[in-house]
Amino acid sequence: MKARVLSGVQPSGQLHIGNYLGALKSWAEIQSQYESIFCIVDLHAITVYQDPKELSEKIRETAALFIAAGIDPNHSSIVVQSAIPGHAELAWLLTCVTPLGWLYRMTQFKAKAEKQETIGDGILQYPVLMAADILIYQASIVPVGEDQSQHLELTRDIAQRFNSLYGETFVMPATHLPTVGARIMGLDDPTQKMSKSVTGTGHAIALLDDPKTIQKKIARATTDSQPAVDPDNMGPGIANLFTIAHACDPSITKQSVAGMRYGDFKKRVAQAVIARLEPIQQRYRAVTAEPSYIDAVLARGKERVLPIAQDTVAKTKRAMGVYT
Ligand code: ATP
Ligand code: MG
Repeated sequence: MKARVLSGVQPSGQLHIGNYLGALKSWAEIQSQYESIFCIVDLHAITVYQDPKELSEKIRETAALFIAAGIDPNHSSIVVQSAIPGHAELAWLLTCVTPLGWLYRMTQFKAKAEKQETIGDGILQYPVLMAADILIYQASIVPVGEDQSQHLELTRDIAQRFNSLYGETFVMPATHLPTVGARIMGLDDPTQKMSKSVTGTGHAIALLDDPKTIQKKIARATTDSQPAVDPDNMGPGIANLFTIAHACDPSITKQSVAGMRYGDFKKRVAQAVIARLEPIQQRYRAVTAEPSYIDAVLARGKERVLPIAQDTVAKTKRAMGVYT
């Protein structure tokens, strides 16, 4: 039996080049070696208010982008989290073995709590739901961006605690980070991770941005006061643009951009990004041309993974002694 892979994206905002280089690209690369499940995690998205109509559209758009980015729906299962009731059910069972202190320690929680006056319980609890997303499929490999490493450690801690309290129930998942692009930074502020939830037109390159928009955003990206690229001493803005370019086109090396004036360098970066995104955008248009296609993919995904989820929930309930 092939090892199982699980990962997900929240259907909130517009998917960006960080989501692609940190997650989707490696999903597409490794999917054939494993039994892969890729999730549109709408229950995570609603930890902050989402316009209901927009959210239901974003779910389908995200699924279409998975396929456009190279996920093969004939081989991998593409699933909407809320279509599988076991995610929320298992999250409760796992909540009951999770010390509150573990959740307060999460840096993402701390960062979000600092920014907001009042904070929803969902923001605190969301890493437990994420643990449930992974453990419910007994996934052994989880390809994510670097920002999710801490949540994956927590997932392992929760699994270990459950297994030691109630007996071996969950497979221990390993984190899989891409070698390049595990943490893409914002174009407007290279000290902040590029995020869907950050607004501001110059922050992120969306996967569906047209070439002109991409050129403009990269031309305006924050750099530093140096005139030209010094490969041994790149400021955070230039280093981020280089990472993006190299991940999009590996023939762009430090050597190949050494001494380039920033204006020319940015044009080269934009060219690499546009070339990388063009076939993705073409596929996106093709898969969304027939509206019922995405719904059929999601229904097939659900049908494939539902029995796995039901099995794990039943096993977990039996282990805990609750009524099944
Ligand atoms: P949000 O602001 O809504 O949390 P996000 O951009 O962080 O949006 P998620 O849906 O939370 O996107 O994450 C989806 C996947 O993309 C995860 O595997 C995450 O690690 C990865 N990812 C997110 N941002 C980046 C980034 N800037 N660089 C690399 N990978 C990223
Ligand atoms: Mg995120």
